Amino acid sequence: MTLALVARPHVIIVGAGLAGPALASALAGQGIRSTVLERHSTPQNIGGVILVAPNAMRVLDKQVGIEPRLRAAGCTYDAIDIYTEGSGSLNRVGGFMTTNGNVRGLTIARPVLQNLLLDRCQEYDDGRITIRYSSRLARIQEDKDAVTAVLEDGTEIKGDILIGADGIGSLVRQHILGETPVQPKYSGAVSLGSVLRRDQVQLPATMQLPAFFYTRSGTILLFAMDDDTIQWATTSPVPDRDRHSWQAYRESGQAIAQLQADWGHVTIEPIASLVRNTNNENIRLWAPYEMPVLPRWHTARTCVLGDAAHAIPPSMGQGAAQAFEDVGVLSRLLSEYKPTSTSTSTSFESTFAQFEALRRPRVDMIRKMTAKAESSRGATSSNLGWYVKNTVIRGAFMMFGKGKECYMNGGEVTGYDANAIDVQV
Ligand SMILES: Cc1cc2nc3c(=O)[nH]c(=O)nc-3n(C[C@H](O)[C@H](O)[C@H](O)COP(=O)(O)OP(=O)(O)OC[C@H]3O[C@@H](n4cnc5c(N)ncnc54)[C@H](O)[C@@H]3O)c2cc1C
Repeated sequence: MTLALVARPHVIIVGAGLAGPALASALAGQGIRSTVLERHSTPQNIGGVILVAPNAMRVLDKQVGIEPRLRAAGCTYDAIDIYTEGSGSLNRVGGFMTTNGNVRGLTIARPVLQNLLLDRCQEYDDGRITIRYSSRLARIQEDKDAVTAVLEDGTEIKGDILIGADGIGSLVRQHILGETPVQPKYSGAVSLGSVLRRDQVQLPATMQLPAFFYTRSGTILLFAMDDDTIQWATTSPVPDRDRHSWQAYRESGQAIAQLQADWGHVTIEPIASLVRNTNNENIRLWAPYEMPVLPRWHTARTCVLGDAAHAIPPSMGQGAAQAFEDVGVLSRLLSEYKPTSTSTSTSFESTFAQFEALRRPRVDMIRKMTAKAESSRGATSSNLGWYVKNTVIRGAFMMFGKGKECYMNGGEVTGYDANAIDVQV
């Protein structure tokens, strides 16, 4: 079916990371044309495993239409199991049930997810989606009738609205905030770990992934990347440095030295084999930055979403999921969009205001929950301190977890359905 493209806005999307191509596909499904600008010449195959929780999966299924491909490429999970360190072993104390309304979560490598999103965009090559690589946005001009993206090489691209899906260092955000730019803030702890073959790791036969370990030395998250590989990550409180110098921290051997200092003494499996098989060549480092709360997310014709608006550290696996929820809500609002006054810029502005009003409280709630989760993740120096922490964690799952498996329900986070909320424009 050919959908009428007439009287629909032309949307410029800056960024072909995760939110950009997802938004382009969701809009194309509604007959809305977009041009996606990406500064790199090709997709960058970087990044580790991403958790696609049910709240994100709903958007990728209903609005983007790639659920079966995700299932084929990633690893479906129903719960995140929690373990604590006992004497000489890890003991399962319960878990978080993540399946929600029959929608199941998934772990997948970020590059695989990104490529599936970009492949989906290719299917709208009837003029609905144009992806332009090597197109770095340099500045934005907005006037009463249109918005213009000016690229670094001077090329000008005109559209009705411009959406910044340009990540944590967003230039679109800078345009929106004008004189008062807000800088991303380092979360205070760097994520260290590696990707290993399953046969390199002594996984207990009964251990399901993803699994999360609380130990005296800190915490570890272990998840499946695909059928043959797993990724593990811990966080270490390393002082802030310039956002672009973390690579030097890794290459100089400081990252592996830190990992060894934190975990080299641990003999419990699978931790010992995870650490033993991680070295200066395969160690992965990711320094999460967080966006402070922005005073506004939009102007008359531009708006930010995803990490550009609200980057959240990955501790609850909700960073990318919040970007996908944004995509679900904004694409619905834009598909309902009808010019209501002689000034279309005013109408777009009210659509963006509604988007911000719908999304801001939800993102703030996830941000607070993430901060709370992070505060319990450090190492515990004294025996008494560990005894208390261990007892509290076990007790919480026994008291609040349903049934003998002690599963807590994460419905408040994973139950969100961007398709079900009221978006009357
Ligand atoms: C390299 C990398 C690795 C990551 N690894 C993990 C991980 O292991 N686990 C996890 O949970 N989360 C990870 N994340 C975070 C997670 O991917 C984000 O939360 C999620 O991608 C948010 O999507 P986004 O589209 O808002 O931003 P991003 O995915 O960051 O995409 C932004 C895009 O905008 C482009 N861009 C930026 N500026 C311009 C410009 N001026 N002109 C044109 N294009 C521009 C960038 O090149 C990029 O492609 C990673 C992010 C990155 C960038």
